[in-house]
Amino acid sequence: MTCFTFVETFSLKVRKSNLSAFRNSFVHRFKVLPYKETCRNAFSSWRLEYGSQSNFSVPSTSLATEQHIVSSSSSALKEKLVEKGQKYKVKPIKKVLVANRGEIAVRIIRSCREMGIETVAIYSTADRNALHVALADETVCIGEPSSKKSYLDITSVLAAAEITGADAVHPGYGFLSENSVFSSSCEEMGVTFIGPSPFAIDKMGDKSTAKETMLNAGVPCVPGSNGILSDAEEAVRIAENIGYPVLLKATAGGGGRGIKLARNSEELRSLYQMCSAEAQAAFGNGKLYLEKFVEAPRHVEIQVFADKYGNAIHLGERDCSIQRRNQKLVEEAPCPVMTEELRAKMGEAAVNAAKAINYCGAGTVEFLLSAAGEFYFMEMNTRIQVEHPITEQITGIDIVQLQLQIAEGRPLPYRQSDINLKGHAIEVRVNCEEPKDNFRPVPGQVSSLFVPGGLGIRWDSHIYPGYTIAPNYDSMIGKLIVWGPTRDQAIRKMKRALNEMNIVGVPSTIPLHRAIFNNEKFIQGKEIYTNFIETEDILSQVVG
Ligand code: ADP
Ligand code: ADP
Ligand code: MG
Repeated sequence: MTCFTFVETFSLKVRKSNLSAFRNSFVHRFKVLPYKETCRNAFSSWRLEYGSQSNFSVPSTSLATEQHIVSSSSSALKEKLVEKGQKYKVKPIKKVLVANRGEIAVRIIRSCREMGIETVAIYSTADRNALHVALADETVCIGEPSSKKSYLDITSVLAAAEITGADAVHPGYGFLSENSVFSSSCEEMGVTFIGPSPFAIDKMGDKSTAKETMLNAGVPCVPGSNGILSDAEEAVRIAENIGYPVLLKATAGGGGRGIKLARNSEELRSLYQMCSAEAQAAFGNGKLYLEKFVEAPRHVEIQVFADKYGNAIHLGERDCSIQRRNQKLVEEAPCPVMTEELRAKMGEAAVNAAKAINYCGAGTVEFLLSAAGEFYFMEMNTRIQVEHPITEQITGIDIVQLQLQIAEGRPLPYRQSDINLKGHAIEVRVNCEEPKDNFRPVPGQVSSLFVPGGLGIRWDSHIYPGYTIAPNYDSMIGKLIVWGPTRDQAIRKMKRALNEMNIVGVPSTIPLHRAIFNNEKFIQGKEIYTNFIETEDILSQVVG
């Protein structure tokens, strides 16, 4: 038996969705109290009163023995593991609480449904009409629109898992996905966290510590400070040693935020306090580290997967060099300048990085690749990545499904030699932003929507005609993904899809993507660096 003590009293608001027309086509079961229109705040409220002294118990699920395992494992791998005399502890997952919203929540629910696993959607009051709520088997409202009062509120998320009897939590990306307090609380409650151990999250979550860990593991890193800077003067001393320009980076930063460029000591001194204060406000941690600014690199990242038994492989790379303000706009796989030799080297470095921290599950090791072919570790994201679909398209592997299998305790069903990359995939991130107004997010109602189709086209999104995009969250409204046998064919397909796509009611970054896909340098593919949008002056070419 695992015991968990809630230290506070909390209430949960539970309701039945009012999307009846839309959701009638899906199978839904509600263990929770029905929504009552007349109720105060339009919610029926369910108080779970666990006083500070009282415990409740979660029965531990019996662990299966070896014969339950690995129906999908390759027989060679099974033999290898049996030879080693290893026993696997497999705990099949029956019901997943999706601790996220938007397209990634929809993405996770889809894989669960295909695997016969039940799903629980959590949502804030701003997300009553969200697609992930309509698609899940059960739904729990966990709080107000502000992320802090809903999707980031650990107590409410855990309570939702408890009342619905979810035996696993998938954190998606962003929100609590890289929060080790959350992942360890799940485990303490007897709920499987679909991700790595709290130890691995901590080792990589702090970007400066991650670099130290990687240097010790022999993974090449961008030159810079050894750990956290104590003050601006230390930053200047190090910058003078390694040479300007340098980047000040928030150790807790993410999503392209918390990075500032300094070209000389004056700039560095004046940016230091501002950067630290901004990081404190945005990430609750003002600590900074310093890195040499690599001029004109490509962003190339490796998708890794590891199981609980020490096996680790990579699924090739993704090139995410098309960025604006350090945020990815377009991603493709494979990288157009990759060679078999470089892939083997980068793949090995990424697998070593994972092994160095006993990693388990899906992770991404991000590198900068210089024009001379040298690569440097930047950070590791210990979660599923926004751009994971392009890897799925070229490997044929459902990454969410594999995450679930690994979390159940199954060994990796592939060896490195089983991974074959086929064709070329490209993803564009579609945001409800106005490219001509400095990418100002413009949420609102999607009055009509036409999504392209045809061979090799995939649209991962949570929007639908009539849906009102909430202003409280990320402005990404979908990802358009194409696959073709060659890069050239994938580009043609994307151009065709971008021309067909029609989102009415809110502005989107589709016109920006059309401009990118009309650019000769992009089409040629060999000389793309992270400064592409600026050097090619793409913004001036956006039409419509
Ligand atoms: P990926 O690396 O998967 O491409 P991004 O870096 O674009 O993903 O981030 C994915 C999502 O997670 C974005 O919504 C981003 O805002 C959010 N995110 C990433 N890191 C952090 C962080 N440290 N704090 C808050 N949000 C973050
Ligand atoms: P985040 O956690 O926000 O994803 P990263 O450390 O991964 O931050 O960096 C985001 C982007 O910033 C990279 O993809 C790259 O374009 C740019 N960048 C980061 N570090 C460097 C560097 N040392 N030199 C040049 N560009 C960098
Ligand atoms: Mg990154």
